[in-house]
Amino acid sequence: MTNHPGQVDFLSTDAAALLVQRVGLTDLLRGLVSALEKDFSRWEDFDKTARLAQHTPDGVMELMPVADASHFAFKYVNGHPKNPQRGIPSIMAFGALMRADTGAPILLSELTLTTALRTAATSVMAAKLLARRSSRSMALIGNGSQSEFQALAFVGLLGIQSLRLFDIDPAATDKLIHNLRTQLPGVQLQRCSSAAEAVQGADIVTTVTADKANATIVSRAMVQPGMHLNAVGGDCPGKTELDAAILLDAKVFVEFAPQSRIEGEIQHMPEDFAVTELWQVLRGERAGRLHEDDITVFDSVGFALEDYTALRYMHALAQQHQLLQPLALLPQLRNPKNLFELLLQPEAPHHDLAPTHCHAIPA
Ligand code: NAD
Repeated sequence: MTNHPGQVDFLSTDAAALLVQRVGLTDLLRGLVSALEKDFSRWEDFDKTARLAQHTPDGVMELMPVADASHFAFKYVNGHPKNPQRGIPSIMAFGALMRADTGAPILLSELTLTTALRTAATSVMAAKLLARRSSRSMALIGNGSQSEFQALAFVGLLGIQSLRLFDIDPAATDKLIHNLRTQLPGVQLQRCSSAAEAVQGADIVTTVTADKANATIVSRAMVQPGMHLNAVGGDCPGKTELDAAILLDAKVFVEFAPQSRIEGEIQHMPEDFAVTELWQVLRGERAGRLHEDDITVFDSVGFALEDYTALRYMHALAQQHQLLQPLALLPQLRNPKNLFELLLQPEAPHHDLAPTHCHAIPA
């Protein structure tokens, strides 16, 4: 991945979508899981910090930085569960990648679609380590924006053959079934009338609901020995999905413990509650699942390293497929000490500077 000095690439949402279509979702996710495994395995190379969150009554806005010796990356992401009622997604994101030697940005990228991809890939990375190898059925509770990506990742990369679907909004489940029917002709899709029904008989339980509440989507009584829980939706203070009693009986795995203790399911637990970070299992330094009847929980919140990996991975792929656009984000100076020269240039016609018409934005 090489950029000329001062060159900033732009990856738009349309270009990212085209990239997924060209590469194929399963192949792209397979490559992303492998890139995540490589980066999580070199954990100590990264300068890590819990994300910075700004809470409002309706949601949260967050900045997620991380760096190693070669690159710095950040993502901006929000979480506003009521947004779909206003006609916009709950989760929207963008981010950037910088060279560490000069600090120069090299990529500005959409990260809304890419977040769904990297979250599904991270769920697969965890389930590869933690779920029973014989797992064939998965409950998928919360059938919104993230759900297709979770479903396709678990079917394509982990051999899930049957999906048990539930959402409090039946239209969300209709949409999911419609989208999956064309993509997964051989997979059994079962619409369930409650979370309890969806969980019944499932090997893996994925919760990916959005509600700014300490919800009990899955209670202790629903969980059977041997299940793996992929708890994706609870990802900020006051926003959780699991009965705390499950955590007491399970082995709990997290991305980056200092952030997960603030934002994850484990926010309900004492500070010294034992958890294992995924990188420790990946490197064979700590055990994952030991017995067939262990209950394992991946308490997913989304960590900046996943976005770092996704930004570098999508950048390289988009370069190969020539889907990047040049972005005039940095000044092009004849003398790097003479920023003022920008103001002395004769005014040139520039279509980017033409006045634009205003669009009405939903209030
Ligand atoms: P979305 O708004 O598109 O979909 C959420 C769905 O959850 C909706 O269809 C809603 O009806 C459903 N829901 C709400 N309460 C429910 C309940 N009690 N039972 C069943 N269904 C319920 O949101 P999304 O983009 O799919 O994101 C889902 C969640 O995942 C959000 O909370 C988001 O913050 C989280 N998320 C986490 C990560 C991560 O890395 N862990 C990454 C992305 C999103």
